[in-house]
Amino acid sequence: MHMLCPECNQELTKGKTKWMCEECGYMRAIETDAAAEELFFTDAFEAFYPLLAHEYHILYEFVKNKNYYGALLEYKDIVEIILKFPTLIAINRLWQKDGLDYIVKELMVLSNDG
Ligand SMILES: [Zn+2]
Repeated sequence: MHMLCPECNQELTKGKTKWMCEECGYMRAIETDAAAEELFFTDAFEAFYPLLAHEYHILYEFVKNKNYYGALLEYKDIVEIILKFPTLIAINRLWQKDGLDYIVKELMVLSNDG
C-alpha cells in the first residue's frame, strides 16, 4: 500500500506505528482496524470453557487478520461446540435410559424403515 504526503506529494515511508515523509517530516499514525476488538467479548478468552474459549480466540484472530473465509469455517466449529456436542451428549444419555420406547429410539436415529 502506498500513501502520498499531503504536504509535498512524496511517497510516505511506513514505520512501525507511523507513516513518515522523508522530504518534509510529515507524520501520521498508521490506522489499525479496531473492529475485531469491538465485535468480540474478549473476556471470554479467559472466562469461557477452555475448548470454546480456544475456538473463540481463533475466530477473533481470523477476523482481526481479515481472513473471513477462515472465520466462516471457525464459526462453524464454534456452533458445533455450542449446539452439536451437547445435543449428541443429551441423545446419548437418553439412549442409555432403560425402558425407552422403541419409537423414540427410531426417532433418535432418524430412521424411517420399519
Ligand atoms: Zn512531505
